[in-house]
Parts: sequence; C-alpha cells; structure tokens
Amino acid sequence: METTSNERIHCLIIGSGPAGYTAAIYAARANLKPVLYQGLQPGGQLTITTEVENYPGYADGVQGPDMMVHFEKQAVRMGADIRFGLATKVDFSSQPFKVQIDEEKWIEADAVIISTGASARWLGLESEQRLNGYGVSACAVCDGFFFRNKEVAIVGAGDTAAEEALYLSKLCSTVHMFIRRDEMRASKVMQERVLNAPNIKVYWNKDTDEILGEKHVEAVRIKDTKSGETQTIPISGFFVAIGHQPNSDIFKGVIDMDEAGYIKTIPGTSKTNIEGVFASGDVQDKIYRQAVTAAGSGCMAALDAERYLSAKGIH
Ligand SMILES: Cc1cc2nc3c(=O)[nH]c(=O)nc-3n(C[C@H](O)[C@H](O)[C@H](O)COP(=O)(O)OP(=O)(O)OC[C@H]3O[C@@H](n4cnc5c(N)ncnc54)[C@H](O)[C@@H]3O)c2cc1C
Repeated sequence: METTSNERIHCLIIGSGPAGYTAAIYAARANLKPVLYQGLQPGGQLTITTEVENYPGYADGVQGPDMMVHFEKQAVRMGADIRFGLATKVDFSSQPFKVQIDEEKWIEADAVIISTGASARWLGLESEQRLNGYGVSACAVCDGFFFRNKEVAIVGAGDTAAEEALYLSKLCSTVHMFIRRDEMRASKVMQERVLNAPNIKVYWNKDTDEILGEKHVEAVRIKDTKSGETQTIPISGFFVAIGHQPNSDIFKGVIDMDEAGYIKTIPGTSKTNIEGVFASGDVQDKIYRQAVTAAGSGCMAALDAERYLSAKGIH
C-alpha cells in the first residue's frame, strides 16, 4: 500500500461522539497531543436527537447537539486538535500506524483510538425522518421515559426489539409491536416474555406505512403484508428497533470484530487485537449504547493509550 506520510503524531482519535471527545479530553490532559478527526457527523449520534435527560451532570436535561458542543469545547480547552475529516483507509501492519484522511493525506500515529460509533438502522420513511426526535426514536432506554403512561409503538422482531418492547412496557400504558412476518427472530425466551407481557400487543405480518403527525407523533398507519389492509393506531411515541450498524468498514480484515462488525476489545479494557490500537464507544458496544458508557470507554481508551505509550517510552 502506498502510504506516504504527511504528518507524524502521537495519538490519533477517529470519531467525535461522546467516546472520541472524552478520549480527546483525557489524552490532551495526559499530554499525548491528540488529533481528533470528526468524520461526517461532527458530534455523533446525539446531534440528531432533541432532549437528553440521562447524562449525569445536566440536572435540567440538555439538547443533544448542545451537549456535544460542550464536549467539543472542553476537548479544545484541554488542547486537543479537532479537525474535519474522514478516515478512509488504515494500515496497522507496522508501527507507526497509518491512517488515510479524506482519501488524500496519510497520518502516522503511535497510538490510535477508534471511536467511530454506530448508526441506527431506520425504516426509510419520510415521516420517520421528519418526526425524528419528536416522538420517533431508535432508543427505548434513551427516550422511553418521555412516554410514561402513554401508548407507543415499536418495530422490530429480534432480541433487541424484544428487550426494548419489554423496557417500554414498564413505562408505557400500551406497547404496539409490529412484526413483518408471522414469526419473531428473537430467542424463544424473549419471545415468551413479550407474548406474556399484558400491555404488549403484538401485530403479525404488519409493515409500517406511515407515521402520522404534524409537529410530533400522533398515530401510525400500518399495512397488512398479506391483505394490504391498513389500520391507524393513535400513539405518542414510535420506536425503531431493527438494528444498528457499527461504523467499522474501514477496519474490516484489519482488526478483529464479530460477525455484525462490532470491534472486539479485551474485556475490561479498550485494547483491540492490535497492540497500540484501542476502541471505545458504540463501535465496540452492542449492549449498552449510551452516551455515558461511550464517554466512560473513551476515558478508558485514552488511559490505555497513555500507558501503552509510556511503556514503550514513546513520550
Ligand atoms: C436518536 C438517538 C437518541 C439518543 N438519545 C440518547 C440519550 O438520550 N441518552 C444517551 O445516553 N444516549 C442516547 N443515544 C445513544 C448515544 O447517542 C450513543 O450511545 C453515543 O452517541 C455513542 O457515542 P460514540 O462516541 O460511540 O459514537 P457516535 O455518537 O456514534 O459518534 C461516532 C463518531 O464517529 C465519526 N466517524 C464515523 N466514521 C468515521 C470515520 N471513518 N472517520 C472519522 N470519523 C468517523 C462520526 O462522524 C461521529 O462523530 C441516542 C442515540 C440516538 C440515535
């Protein structure tokens, strides 16, 4: 691979969500002079939501985009070098590691922290995009609380959908669950829990036709996949639970990952199978997927990187 270097640095952080910025704050304070590339979504997933109520420290809640501006400002204040740019290729075959930015320049780094996050999969409806953050959500743990004692709907048939439906059933009066086929993909035990929950109403062979509402979600129109018949159900919240895609394509074949593309880390650490390359946040976490857990693992990655570099005598 042709990798003429344009710049040599200590610590490169890829991604600007809670994990990347937290890694940048810790790495900067440890004098690793981190350079962080923000990618196509500066601030990460929280920039597409409205109110965040579960991040500690914000007693009155905070708008997701505002919170991410605070993260960035804090990282800059600590001396992190925050840049626009997308990591497009990597070469981790030897030290220093090489990462290509925007298909042009190559950066050489002694340690790399991958914090590229994950993206929720969406149905692809116009109404889903328009009402995102106004009743449409891809995260029951994040947003279920806003719909206490209200009727909500959820789409999905896997284990995560079952888990999220059960989570919502403890908060909401009724959970309408739409399944495209006449069976669920979730494990037997999860299916049983869903089917036995008194306030989860499962609809088989149903597609979401449209989410209805001007300024916020008011109802959903579903369509029977066999008869084509439609039905409108009044709801306040609409949850999409059809999976997440970790943003790990550029690391395929380079770093160990599971079959879904989540980067594998050594349990209790942020270490990947390549010494000196660390992973934090949603790109390596398919279970918790929260801003606070992403931030926590960003801290771990910076501390792991710092220890790695000092053990090597690199700084
Ligand atoms: C609608 C919605 C609402 C949510 N609400 C809440 C909530 O209320 N509370 C909560 O705790 N969590 C919430 N979450 C979950 C939370 O947003 C995530 O857990 C968290 O953002 C994960 O942080 P991260 O840093 O791992 O990655 P992300 O936030 O996904 O950020 C990934 C970053 O990596 C960058 N990137 C990707 N590929 C590249 C590349 N090749 N080169 C450079 N950069 C790259 C992206 O541009 C982005 O900046 C919500 C999620 C969604 C989708």
